[in-house]
Amino acid sequence: MNLRAHHIFCLQLYEGKGYSEAFCKNMNRIRHELCEFPKSEICLRIEADDICAHCPNLVNKHCNFGQANTTERDKIALRILGLEEGARVSYALIQARLRSAMTAEAFAQLCSRCYWYEQRVCSWEKLSRVLVSNKDCLGNQS
Ligand code: SF4
Repeated sequence: MNLRAHHIFCLQLYEGKGYSEAFCKNMNRIRHELCEFPKSEICLRIEADDICAHCPNLVNKHCNFGQANTTERDKIALRILGLEEGARVSYALIQARLRSAMTAEAFAQLCSRCYWYEQRVCSWEKLSRVLVSNKDCLGNQS
């Protein structure tokens, strides 16, 4: 599965809101797949991915929601995770990195200018609760 790096963080706090019905259906499928099969391999990208593929904001392989902004966010996400673009890793490893590397400062750096943060869908309090709970997105204890 190809995922742009900042989408790793979006997946943690996704609560069914998105850009279209097709987008949400695809996001639900991906989230479910990752949680069911945490050892499946993810290739981390700084470009349109399997989530963007069903997004109405993707035009000619570019994000109409703000290409520079999304690219910058991917780079910050990779720095936080300590991984390189093109790295192939399991979702389980990424979740472990998230738990050890995520801080309020890192969250602010990555997410404070995002549309979904402004809509109050995402917050550091919410993310830290998800990470501390040690539960995956299906509610399974890990
Ligand atoms: S196209 Fe842009 S807004 Fe849509 S999922 Fe991809 S990065 Fe997000």
